[in-house]
Amino acid sequence: MRASSAFDGRGRSIPDATIVVQGGKIVSVEAGRSGPATYDLRGRTLLPGLVDTHVHIDTHFGKDGRATSDGETPQQSMLYSVENAYVTLMAGFTTVQSIGSPSDVDLRAAIARGIVPGPRLLTSISPVTENSGTSDQIRAFVRKMKADGADLVKLFASKSSREGGGQTMTDAQIQAACGEAKAVGLRSWVHAHSPSSVRAATLAGCTTVTHGSQVTDAELTLMRDRGTYFEPNIGLVSQNYLENKSRYFGIGNFNEEGFAFTEKGIPMKREMFKRALTVSGLKLLMGTDAGAGAHGRSAEEIIYLVQVAGQPARDALRDATSLNAQSLNLADRIGSIADGFEADLIAVDGDPLQDITALRRVVFVMKGGKVYKNIARGTR
Ligand SMILES: [Zn+2]
Repeated sequence: MRASSAFDGRGRSIPDATIVVQGGKIVSVEAGRSGPATYDLRGRTLLPGLVDTHVHIDTHFGKDGRATSDGETPQQSMLYSVENAYVTLMAGFTTVQSIGSPSDVDLRAAIARGIVPGPRLLTSISPVTENSGTSDQIRAFVRKMKADGADLVKLFASKSSREGGGQTMTDAQIQAACGEAKAVGLRSWVHAHSPSSVRAATLAGCTTVTHGSQVTDAELTLMRDRGTYFEPNIGLVSQNYLENKSRYFGIGNFNEEGFAFTEKGIPMKREMFKRALTVSGLKLLMGTDAGAGAHGRSAEEIIYLVQVAGQPARDALRDATSLNAQSLNLADRIGSIADGFEADLIAVDGDPLQDITALRRVVFVMKGGKVYKNIARGTR
């Protein structure tokens, strides 16, 4: 295939790129060629398939329009998950990490069979919380998640941002979960808002910290020093809750107090992210926390990071591709346009390095060498 430009996922642009795909893999990448190609994407920019490290693929608005699956059959719930997987892939996300639901395991298997269109799916299945018991009980739970097919272990180490975000799991519980995850070869991924919960997770050697809405420069620097991945989500999740307030209101902690925290959190998280950008060497992941109403819109997070929070587009796109892949231990398979990588390739109308909103115009999606979307026919 050929495009006016390709962004390789690592920071480099390849002008007049020609990419040859065979057997589901990229076999060559060349610049400056012309002539016929199977897929002529002139006027478009090729990118590695985007990666979202944080979605809730099972969440949806049910038959009454509310953000709950109460009263649904398991079959109805699963079909909503299939729809979410489809719109996520069509939006250019070829790999997502679901945090996490037991139903993800069957969805992951169905997508992997190659008929149902969806992104490569990773899942944490069920989380470790402050109610998971003693250190020994937590270690046993982690081993059970591994046996059930989890790709990672999720920890709920602090309260929800709608309840103030204070630390919930003890330091010992966090150490047990992340330590055992490492011992059985799983990554650990920690929901943490407050400074103390972020610090505990980082010092326990957990792989990734998400949210971190209340962190100070000390925690940002600590994560950098320890090599902990940090996944803030500042541009889609809270905004989506507010846009769909009536669909969420009255469910769990989605009450007036919770929504007040959400509104206050938007500028707070933006300022936190701007500080994070100044911490050189901090590994910033692009994860959206997409729930009901946000599936298929994950790119809005990247657009917000660039347009509102001031992250350079090249860095934001690198984070959402090669760095995200690295955080999933998939850096040698996905997230880059390079020889030997999976042919996960998307094309957008325009150049996202100049105009990041080009990510809203995904015209071509290939995953593992198979084309799932192509509305790029003809030239501009
Ligand atoms: Zn989440």
